[in-house]
Amino acid sequence: MSLDAPYTLISRSIFDTTRDGVIITDADNRIVDVNPAFTHSTGYRREEVLGNTPSLLSSGRHDAAFFQGMWRALDEEGHWQGEIWDRRKNGEIYLELLTINVIKDERGCVQRYVAVFTDIHQLRQALAKMDQLAHFDGLTELPNRGLFAKRLEQAIDSARHGNELLALALLDMDGFKATNDRHGRLAGDQLLLQIAQRLKQVTRAGDTLARLGGDEFGLFLTGLANMDALERAIARILALCSAPYQVADQTHRLSASLGVTVFPFDSADAETLLRHADQAMYQAKQAGGNGYHLFDAPQDQAVQSRRQLIERLGQAIAGDELELHYQPKVNLRSGKVIGLEALLRWRHPELGLLLPDTFLPHAEHSEVIDSLGEKVIHMALEQATAWQAAGLNISISVNIGARQLQREDFLECLRGCLAEFPALPPGTLELEILESAAIGNTQHVRNLIEACRSLGIRFALDDFGTGYASLTYLREIPADVLKIDQSFIHDILDSADALTLVEGAIGLATAFRRVIVAEGVENAEQGVLLMRLGCDIAQGNGIAPAMHASQIPAWVKFYRPDPQWVLWADTHWEMSDFPLLVAQYDHLKWVKRLMLYVEGASLTLTDAELTDHRSCRFGHWYYGHGTIRYGHLPEFRALEPIHQQVHQIGPEIVALRAGQGAEQARLRFRDLLVLKDKILLHLADLQRAVADRSVAQDGLASAN
Ligand code: C2E
Ligand code: CA
Ligand code: CA
Repeated sequence: MSLDAPYTLISRSIFDTTRDGVIITDADNRIVDVNPAFTHSTGYRREEVLGNTPSLLSSGRHDAAFFQGMWRALDEEGHWQGEIWDRRKNGEIYLELLTINVIKDERGCVQRYVAVFTDIHQLRQALAKMDQLAHFDGLTELPNRGLFAKRLEQAIDSARHGNELLALALLDMDGFKATNDRHGRLAGDQLLLQIAQRLKQVTRAGDTLARLGGDEFGLFLTGLANMDALERAIARILALCSAPYQVADQTHRLSASLGVTVFPFDSADAETLLRHADQAMYQAKQAGGNGYHLFDAPQDQAVQSRRQLIERLGQAIAGDELELHYQPKVNLRSGKVIGLEALLRWRHPELGLLLPDTFLPHAEHSEVIDSLGEKVIHMALEQATAWQAAGLNISISVNIGARQLQREDFLECLRGCLAEFPALPPGTLELEILESAAIGNTQHVRNLIEACRSLGIRFALDDFGTGYASLTYLREIPADVLKIDQSFIHDILDSADALTLVEGAIGLATAFRRVIVAEGVENAEQGVLLMRLGCDIAQGNGIAPAMHASQIPAWVKFYRPDPQWVLWADTHWEMSDFPLLVAQYDHLKWVKRLMLYVEGASLTLTDAELTDHRSCRFGHWYYGHGTIRYGHLPEFRALEPIHQQVHQIGPEIVALRAGQGAEQARLRFRDLLVLKDKILLHLADLQRAVADRSVAQDGLASAN
């Protein structure tokens, strides 16, 4: 053993197996040992580097002052941490996060330097990809809603200084949905690409065209001389959009509805302008489509209703109309319930139970939001105390709005609130802040987090991945927890991009030693995949929706994790078994689509997907990857006849629905459900067989 004598067996095994590279040097900075991860990262074998100094890895990107700073920190403080560019044996330059510690003997003489590094090159690449995904639409590659809003803000600024007109137009296609339903998604995508192409012709430097979602586009035009110029531009857009489209061999006819508002006549911020243009678009639609409507600022009704809403919300806060509902967070691997997120609800006497999205955004810039924020914390602590008295000790996370976070007296309020509930153990309260709210004011947020830590309060960065994720920024915000945004989890089984992104986020959290939580987990397969990727904590409707406080104790008591999670918990399955997981999900989706059709929706399966057992996504897996990997297993072969039956019954159901109606189709559908359950049972058998096999292999590996 080459490691120094005092190393225990345990540290030896960490040294050998950690994914972090380790370099140990002597007092003269000569390398005395490196671990396998070092070789993996740098390409240098151990024998090649022993006796050398680490400058062997130097990339030449850092100047002498950089290294002087490093040595000074090592001399004075005994450790150093930072990002550093190094060079691999193959010449490639890469970025690493490096921590160096000095080990001294009893007399204070340097014995060893221990440097541990995490290769963050791939993380950076994943981040760049995240950035692209977060700001651009995947299909048209146009900016998305978030980026559009940001650019609009800048455009308003410069229009204000230059005394220019700035027109904001929101555009929604008429008849797109029907075409999409009739001709399928592929044709729909082609159409959207053509629309984007046409709209680009109208833009000039300084303008921005964005896809805001579905068939909705946003466009702002800068440098307009007068309203005549604007009218000409609008006429051109309408003409371009209504010219015939050619997709494959078919001609399609569509048109556009435009809502337009003009700065500075409508002198508001970006968010309000967007809302105004949206209202105007709605009116253009109401007028029958293929036209535009100009927002009329003085007649704005919305301003009125917003004021009313804020006033009404103020009464709700003072009265008793607000409640918190609680959504559990669980550890998928251990099956433990580890906390609750408090989510605000407004029990409105006339309108019923309102979700926060219906009222919070309108109140965001008003003062009621301040008292609301305080009230929410108070309600959560009160509830936690009640639960504690009843024997349920559980942590609660509370969402903090951007404005609340910026308040000077935030910390003071928090202290006051906590003091009212002295029985609560520290660590009960966690605060969730939006990535976008934290970024504007990193210094303030950093101080706040540190001050709160001494009060036993943890911080989570919410909706992680949707904002401005960057390494520097993550380092500056010492939040304990990162919550991956639900949009990524939603697509994780369907989209390679989403998968890459989630992998990137998990890698990042690991490198920065943060806890990672996945939100919006809706089915068991997503959970299995998350565990495999290294994210064990999850929240979502697939586990439990947000519930009234009275339901929580019983839920916690009777909660049992999904059998699939139990099955996979101790298994380190390989990424190559991932399609097996997706197959199950695909089959369920197929059955669901048929069910929706029976219940009156249009059929979203192609003819081949419906009738041919080799052409559905499950079939693709079964006769491709599945056969190659599991073809020898009886559990796998048992699936084939059942799946073939599925594709006999499926077309029958469709025919029944079209001919005799929903009732007959529903009857036959029951037989399909029986088959579905059989498939799930066999898949579970197969998964168990695969899991046993990999446990056996793990056993073999550790015995070797
Ligand atoms: P959030 O913090 O991202 O909260 C998660 C939202 O996702 C909740 O919506 C939750 O009900 C929903 N959700 C959870 N699991 C699933 C799932 O599996 N699928 C889907 N589709 N959705 C799921 P909710 O309650 O409507 O809250 C919306 C947002 O309002 C929250 O997003 C949060 O940003 C904000 N909010 C909620 N309560 C408060 C509050 O007390 N104060 C502040 N400032 N904001 C709040
Ligand atoms: Ca949240
Ligand atoms: Ca969230």
